Amino acid sequence: MSALESNLAKAAALFTRFRAQPLGHFIAGRADRGSSRDLLDNLSPVDGQRLNQVVSGNEQDVHAAATAAEAALPAWRALTGEQRRAVLHKVADAIEARREEIALVECMDTGQALRFMSGAALRGAENFRFFADRAPQACNGLALPAAEHMNYTVRQAIGPVAVITPWNTPFMLSTWKIAPALAAGCTVVHKPAEWSPLTATMLAEIMTEAGVPPGVVNVVNGVGERAGKLLTEHPAIRATAFIGESKTGSLIMSQGAPTLKRVHLELGGKNPVIVFEDADLERALDAVVFMIYSLNGERCTSSSRLLVQRSIYDRFIERVAERVAKLKVGHPLDPATEIGPLIHARHLDKVLSYFRIAREDGAEIKVGGDRVAALKPGLYVQPTLFSHASNTMRVAREEIFGPVLTAIAFDDEAEALKMTNDTPYGLTAYVWTSDTGRALRMAHGVEAGMVWVNSENNRHLPSPFGGMKASGIGRDGGDYSFDFYMETKNICLAFGTHRVPRLGA
Ligand code: NAD
Repeated sequence: MSALESNLAKAAALFTRFRAQPLGHFIAGRADRGSSRDLLDNLSPVDGQRLNQVVSGNEQDVHAAATAAEAALPAWRALTGEQRRAVLHKVADAIEARREEIALVECMDTGQALRFMSGAALRGAENFRFFADRAPQACNGLALPAAEHMNYTVRQAIGPVAVITPWNTPFMLSTWKIAPALAAGCTVVHKPAEWSPLTATMLAEIMTEAGVPPGVVNVVNGVGERAGKLLTEHPAIRATAFIGESKTGSLIMSQGAPTLKRVHLELGGKNPVIVFEDADLERALDAVVFMIYSLNGERCTSSSRLLVQRSIYDRFIERVAERVAKLKVGHPLDPATEIGPLIHARHLDKVLSYFRIAREDGAEIKVGGDRVAALKPGLYVQPTLFSHASNTMRVAREEIFGPVLTAIAFDDEAEALKMTNDTPYGLTAYVWTSDTGRALRMAHGVEAGMVWVNSENNRHLPSPFGGMKASGIGRDGGDYSFDFYMETKNICLAFGTHRVPRLGA
């Protein structure tokens, strides 16, 4: 039996439960069918067939989940950080124990290749361990002494929070939000993306089995415009942590405005990788190819704009093209696969539309530019490279969110910086140069929340993660996460020596 056949057999066994009955919600510590009779079909990226059905949450369902989170808050928030730390480490242990199961379900649900998803559960577990270890100190604030008063600050969990996640790497992204929220003492209602709902329920089950009390984590399934919207409007929810498209982010803000919700938005990007002629071109080549063609290009931090200095442009693009032509497109459960199918027919149509747009705008399609006909009805596209593009073309300005790279030439540092910043987005930038001064000038000039110099996206959990401009508001990571999930309270104690103003005396 090949590795693919063996993985398919294991995945089929795991899907028995999802096929048996529609996937409902997870509320107050148990599976909940909800009151909605509407069902959504969850389709396979591999062959377009129905994987399972999912309940499309309505107002009562969202209300039940928000109320459960509200009821569970006082007891969870009252635990010491050490007690929460112990529970969250058990969650991490349980995620590690079920990592293969999580990876197989995630691949079948999203189309992401196993070679990348096999580590996703471990990263999820790491998220829990990282924030668990910081839980005991999360409440700790500042000492701010004054002449006759002592001020000090403490942080306290803000309350029940909504976590709304996208479909590209749903398990890992959910843990990135839920772990710090729980460590802070918040309770959670999670609304996963309707195109990839499965691992959210698995995560809620794992957490409950590991000892997270009922109601501390709840999942409501459904469509964004309904269940998601209702959640962002619910008065019991104090803050919304959102990952998704920029236009949805702006809706989240306006939907939360009447109830004055705090929002944290991790949104889209059109991230540049800038390669100067003095760079280590071998390392730059590896990083350029990795950062757009891994995870099907469905990655917020993907470097989808390749800016190359004109003196090396032709040579470098030829090298990139050779690599792109050799990428292995195939079944997500085949360990050899580098690029799997796209998540959904609507997303496939969007990506395919940019092949037409590129031609109309006058870019050269150097590699790819079509659907993989041999793998129909699977939603596979050819890894694609557009060359001789300009920064004004739509393929250079809009987030395509597929294995599609747009290459543009620049003459000098000033032009590279101008092109880099000439975009509505500001999530990440990648700079390749051996000139330290230039690296610093570029890094400081770039309008992006994160800059990697001579590196691909290398994650470090204490460091801030987030974007500027249309790429988001707020930062995750380390203490930045606690600033979002907690309220800072100032406490002022008088020494008893100051003069209290007297009125009516
Ligand atoms: P999306 O905005 O369509 O959906 C994200 C989530 O929001 C889904 O759960 C959806 O159901 C929900 N939603 C949709 N409309 C809503 C509404 N009106 N109110 C409340 N919830 C609503 O995004 P997507 O297509 O699922 O994901 C891809 C996008 O996510 C890309 O733009 C990508 O760059 C971005 N992303 C950003 C980061 C980051 O860290 N910056 C990480 C991953 C993905």
